[in-house]
Amino acid sequence: MTSKNTPPVSSPTPLQACDLVVFTAHPDDAELCCGGLLILSAEQGWRTAVVDLTRGELGTLGTPELRAQESEAASRILGLSARRNLGLPDGRLFDTDENRRLIVRTIRELRPRLVIAPPSEDHHPDHLATSELVRRSFYLCGIGKYLPELEPWRPRGLLTYTGSQPVIPQLVVDISAVIDRRMQAVRCYRSQFHQPANPRPAESSPVRIAAPYFLDTIEGRLAYFGSLIGVSYGEAYSGELPLPVTDLVRLFEKEPWKNP
Ligand SMILES: [Zn+2]
Repeated sequence: MTSKNTPPVSSPTPLQACDLVVFTAHPDDAELCCGGLLILSAEQGWRTAVVDLTRGELGTLGTPELRAQESEAASRILGLSARRNLGLPDGRLFDTDENRRLIVRTIRELRPRLVIAPPSEDHHPDHLATSELVRRSFYLCGIGKYLPELEPWRPRGLLTYTGSQPVIPQLVVDISAVIDRRMQAVRCYRSQFHQPANPRPAESSPVRIAAPYFLDTIEGRLAYFGSLIGVSYGEAYSGELPLPVTDLVRLFEKEPWKNP
């Protein structure tokens, strides 16, 4: 089942050309997995965007309307130039030609230099489907005869963020300077996570992400990835191809094992 009769649902933020675009399955995925990179990139002057494929309407907690409000608040903290929700059906995401066309259209509208997709291994079927869809569409969006009514666009790079599975990352971004804001963006999704004012023991949490320890595990993962490059917090990314480097010395300009 696809969204043939369901028009895309846009957030109030209009879609426009961007430098970096993160695709996710659900509202809050980008904050949980890429928030530091998005905040840093916006501060560095890049135009950043997040495209959520579904509204997360199958979520045990919250409602799509509430999650949309939370997403808007989080987007402001991330400093996004654009955020769009494609309104595809939660729990029924598949790598179909119709869905590929939707992703290709979105990439051609946004014209990003860098695309970031979910990892190709994950416990959630929607995350897997989004990864497959974006990775296939990444190739197709540069082919002029595929959807010829739209000008083709070839992003220069495709990376995947880190999900629930263990990985040896290809690169780690130092997000130590923005860790507080990153976690503040995550906590905008009040309907999804544990609230200290409303204590609930871990064993009675309806879902894993609402357990009291869940956000600590997120920070723990960021601290682990940071430790791999000698900083307090890091986000890990990987790609299918070697990374192009033109100035290898500059890549190592920061002294290791020293925090900002
Ligand atoms: Zn998700």
